[in-house]
Amino acid sequence: MINFQYTRAGDVSDAVRQIAADPAAKFIAGGTNLIDLMKEDVERPSRLIDISRLPLKTVEETADGGLRIGALVPNSDLAYHPLIGQRYPMLASAILAGASAQLRNMASTGGNLLQRTRCSYFYDLATPCNKREPGSGCSAITGLNRMHAILGTSEACIATHPSDMCVALAALDATVHVAGPAGPRAIAFSDFHRLPENAPQRDTNLQANEIVTAVELPARGFAANYTYLKIRDRLSYAFALVSVAAALELEGNTIKEARLALGAVAHKPWRELSAEAELRGQAANQSTFTRAADVLLRDAKGFEHNAFKIDLARRAIVRALTQAAAGTPQSQSNKKIR
Ligand SMILES: Cc1cc2nc3c(=O)[nH]c(=O)nc-3n(C[C@H](O)[C@H](O)[C@H](O)COP(=O)(O)OP(=O)(O)OC[C@H]3O[C@@H](n4cnc5c(N)ncnc54)[C@H](O)[C@@H]3O)c2cc1C
Ligand code: SF4
Repeated sequence: MINFQYTRAGDVSDAVRQIAADPAAKFIAGGTNLIDLMKEDVERPSRLIDISRLPLKTVEETADGGLRIGALVPNSDLAYHPLIGQRYPMLASAILAGASAQLRNMASTGGNLLQRTRCSYFYDLATPCNKREPGSGCSAITGLNRMHAILGTSEACIATHPSDMCVALAALDATVHVAGPAGPRAIAFSDFHRLPENAPQRDTNLQANEIVTAVELPARGFAANYTYLKIRDRLSYAFALVSVAAALELEGNTIKEARLALGAVAHKPWRELSAEAELRGQAANQSTFTRAADVLLRDAKGFEHNAFKIDLARRAIVRALTQAAAGTPQSQSNKKIR
């Protein structure tokens, strides 16, 4: 274990001041990802700035009918929040499909966005990994890549973003609010996470001296016709092979509005607007859903062990849209398990 300093931030400005003063420092919220990475020697912060007591723990209604979720709202509290259950049940389903009850009690909204990939080479200091050590190479491209990406990959990295919650946030068109030395700014959810390109060490467009303060949901919640479908090796406590957030607004059997985002297939939650356009104005049936899946996956590329994910994703999209259209979300129940 390396030596590190520990300080506690008094307020958001103090947190920004502290992180700006020490580029090797890291914020700690729930610690469920960062502490694991420190134990494995993957992350070696000079200082932990504890933000867990900052007053960012509320869920508030916004003037335009949406919700503003503080960055420190625990995943469990968010999933079981009555306004989330009523208006954004797809988000509750996605959160409850992730991790375990104990982890969700600790994990924060901001930390969930910033959790790092589960690529096993990223955790293994004995192997090259461009994300951990830029320029060292990518062990997954020619190695064991069953869990890896099929969309948006680069020659530098084929890792996936592991979050479930973020897939629903992408589909719901959320906005991430951050604060830094230059003041607050808002980042559209689709611009928050990055593709690996030639800099896979950067997961997001958050600057090193910025803190996430909140996530905002617009009014439209798709509460009637939605599904979060997570396909994984075990039914609980496992990361996704493929996940789908599907949401529809129907007029009779015609699709008025559609949202479709995939998890565990790319370096970021994958939302393809042309696939949603393929759904809009069409009849809600299997051939429409299959066409949308084909559009979404047209540039998908498999590697030695994960080519099966392309067909898996296609079938998962059709199933998720079918369930959403039928109003039968069939995912994790929102029953209280704490
Ligand atoms: C065994 C296990 C299984 C899991 N399974 C799943 C799963 O199936 N699905 C899923 O989605 N997740 C899963 N997770 C991941 C879990 O959801 C994340 O670890 C958790 O959401 C991270 O939140 P945290 O508050 O603990 O973050 P921390 O560990 O405290 O921080 C994570 C990172 O975010 C940064 N950070 C935290 N808050 C902020 C902020 N406000 N502003 C700027 N930076 C910040 C930290 O500096 C750190 O780099 C699993 C985790 C474990 C350990
Ligand atoms: S896929 Fe990315 S995280 Fe995994 S070994 Fe390659 S560079 Fe590292």
